[in-house]
Amino acid sequence: IGHACGHNVICATAVGAFLATAEVAGDLDGSVELIGTPAEEGGGGKELIARAGGFDDVDAVVMLHPSSFEAAEHPWIGVRTVDVTYHGLAAHAAAMPFKGRNALDGAVNAYQGMAQLRQHMLPTDRVHGIITEGGQKPNIVPERAALTFYLRSAEPETLAVLVQRAEDIFTAAATMSGTTVEIGWDPTPVYLPVRNNHPLALRWAVNVGERGRVSLPRGIVPDALTGSTDLGNVSVRVPAIHPTLAIAPAGVTIHSPEFTAHARSAAADQGVVDGAIGLALTAVDFLCDPELRTSVRDDFQAAGGTLDVAALLA
Ligand SMILES: [Zn+2]
Ligand SMILES: [Zn+2]
Repeated sequence: IGHACGHNVICATAVGAFLATAEVAGDLDGSVELIGTPAEEGGGGKELIARAGGFDDVDAVVMLHPSSFEAAEHPWIGVRTVDVTYHGLAAHAAAMPFKGRNALDGAVNAYQGMAQLRQHMLPTDRVHGIITEGGQKPNIVPERAALTFYLRSAEPETLAVLVQRAEDIFTAAATMSGTTVEIGWDPTPVYLPVRNNHPLALRWAVNVGERGRVSLPRGIVPDALTGSTDLGNVSVRVPAIHPTLAIAPAGVTIHSPEFTAHARSAAADQGVVDGAIGLALTAVDFLCDPELRTSVRDDFQAAGGTLDVAALLA
């Protein structure tokens, strides 16, 4: 089905908004930059750009994501990745099983422990994983087994709690199986929850409203109906918005074959035009309107200001 996320629409709206804004930027109070992101989904590209100083001289960031509904402030949550490897002792599974320690048992304990965690975590938290290695032959006690999990939460602080609980489960699973465990966090950068800038999001809602698109008020889209984006890492460094733009009928989810089809439809093309205009107008408003700039900055500071992302993950 391909990526099925409509990132062609993201790219085209960003380029369109940039071209429109750049045309008038000379008459305005600032400048506009188009910052592309390699490895946006899965590689944490924006975190790497941010660490390299790519957003240091930026005052505000706008981008959008196609969807099946219009939300000026979509509740994007954070995600961390963890690779968990169990080490046991190989032995003949029939002749001398008592000499072995089963790494697959460690992995299965961990998987079950995470499944039991689900009942007792926040309703907006998400944990999901797979077993990536489970042994080589049934007659050999597996000496190595491995899993990969994603852990998602709505706030940096609740994500930290979820991470600690998962660590406890992974360690306990090793104790139960007499194995040892290696826990490797963030083989790719963490994705932090998006901190939506309210004044900028309101301005987006007004601007895209002029294209006949009615943004849902905050709180209507359930917090659970969400994913993660590396724009979150930018949004805790610089005021930012990441609204959704409807290019598919309600109920069609991203990462589905249906969404793949909608992402190349006439509705998507119309979305590119409307989205690019909405982003451009919002960027121009920001550059022209000192009052908006002040309220954007005030809102950002009230939400905690610039976060020290490295310290947060320590
Ligand atoms: Zn996406
Ligand atoms: Zn995606």
